[in-house]
Amino acid sequence: MMQASANGSHTVCDVLVVGGGPAGSAISALLAGKGWDVHVLEKDRHPRFHIGESLLPHSLPMLDRLGVLSEVEKIGITKYGAEIVSPYHGRSRILYFSKALDGSQPSAYEVKRADFDKILIDNAIAKGVRVHEGVRAKQVEFRKNSTHLIQAEDQTGQSLTYEAKFVVDASGRDTFLSGQFGGKRRNPSHNSAAVFGHFEGVTRLPGRDEGNISIVWFDHGWWWIIPFKDGTTSVGAVCWPSYISTRKVPLEQFLRDTIALCAPVAERMAKAKLIGQAYAAANYSYRRSTMSGDGYLMVGDAFAFIDPVFSSGVHLALNSASLGADVVDAYLRKSPDYGRCLKEFERTVRVGVKTYSWFIYHFTQPAFRNLFMSDGSIFKMEEAVLSVLAGDAFGKSPTRLPLFLFKIAYYLVYLFNFRENRAAHRRRVRGVPETVTTLNDYAVHDRP
Ligand SMILES: Cc1cc2nc3c(=O)[nH]c(=O)nc-3n(C[C@H](O)[C@H](O)[C@H](O)COP(=O)(O)OP(=O)(O)OC[C@H]3O[C@@H](n4cnc5c(N)ncnc54)[C@H](O)[C@@H]3O)c2cc1C
Repeated sequence: MMQASANGSHTVCDVLVVGGGPAGSAISALLAGKGWDVHVLEKDRHPRFHIGESLLPHSLPMLDRLGVLSEVEKIGITKYGAEIVSPYHGRSRILYFSKALDGSQPSAYEVKRADFDKILIDNAIAKGVRVHEGVRAKQVEFRKNSTHLIQAEDQTGQSLTYEAKFVVDASGRDTFLSGQFGGKRRNPSHNSAAVFGHFEGVTRLPGRDEGNISIVWFDHGWWWIIPFKDGTTSVGAVCWPSYISTRKVPLEQFLRDTIALCAPVAERMAKAKLIGQAYAAANYSYRRSTMSGDGYLMVGDAFAFIDPVFSSGVHLALNSASLGADVVDAYLRKSPDYGRCLKEFERTVRVGVKTYSWFIYHFTQPAFRNLFMSDGSIFKMEEAVLSVLAGDAFGKSPTRLPLFLFKIAYYLVYLFNFRENRAAHRRRVRGVPETVTTLNDYAVHDRP
């Protein structure tokens, strides 16, 4: 229901979702499917550029449930695994998802997010969600035992008011509600930033491996190479703060200079041309201690962002949206299941974030590299790590014991080469407090 007034408009609905990325589109479509009147505010307009292009195999059932899998298949290139390239070992190896403990999801897709997010938002609209693009949520007034008021603004500067029984924060790394409430905690020892762009002319892996993601370690962090169906490729580096702070040149040049520092990436990009602009993301890790309250919920990056190395972001966003939809539905129906749904939502989201965090924080240590590059698997450790890589991070398969053993093996290898590992850790965290101020989030394309 919408009422126009002289100084704007007033829209009344059941659920107001802030953000029309994967988390916002998914939760709104699921809630509309349950019969609720859902409105989404999206500050941008789809299709729009976004980073986060490599999907995980275990996201596919969720995309199927949303009814978009066949469309995603049309825009995506199939990825059967991840190529890990170690200049320190002078070789690479491909980890195939089919070898995970639960081999039921042997592949995923690499997608341009402009296309992927458009499919998801169009699906929400088709399910009856009212999407307001070019509208930025600015403030929420939470009212006890009443509806909540959300103040917003469109791109012409017009003020808009939304009145909802429930508010979902799906605003991604903008962390809309954290901006209002505070409580966002940055990880003090993990604060990298990313520089990236889309390229044409990047050499691909041969045959069936063409769509695999490549992850390349280098002295200042790590690289991703993500091929797309149209022949173009996303290439980006996640770098330590101490390296980012050395930047004296415009971002595009910085990206080129950084490519030149990593031979395996430079070789594959010998004939590559940047399409459009270079981007940056101040990619520091954060989370909140709480993700819900009376009449609101945070899903996807609005609650936590770790680091992109295991391509876990969209997977965590879709999963939290799926469980979050049950929570909102139970809340609105005043169901006795509400407490159980909320507990399940919070537990699962925290387990997912925790599982990926350990791997992400240790991924660039020499001890981790040595373990990852060693062939052969004992006690099903490799299969368990592959399960996590495939998105099986919520305890579906019996990964607990093998992952525990993998961590013990890691710490033993760390101690064996203590000095080297300690030095690598120090290099990673040096300059941590400054990074966020030297690079802003994307579209800071030309600020030396
Ligand atoms: C460098 C980098 C590389 C990454 N690579 C990968 C990868 O390969 N695979 C992967 O799965 N993940 C990756 N990620 C993570 C991934 O981008 C996110 O986890 C994912 O997009 C989260 O989805 P979301 O819906 O929570 O947030 P988003 O996708 O960020 O969507 C949030 C939406 O909210 C809108 N919004 C924000 N504030 C407001 C407001 N106030 N009012 C209205 N609208 C608002 C934004 O415009 C946006 O459309 C990467 C992240 C980074 C930084």
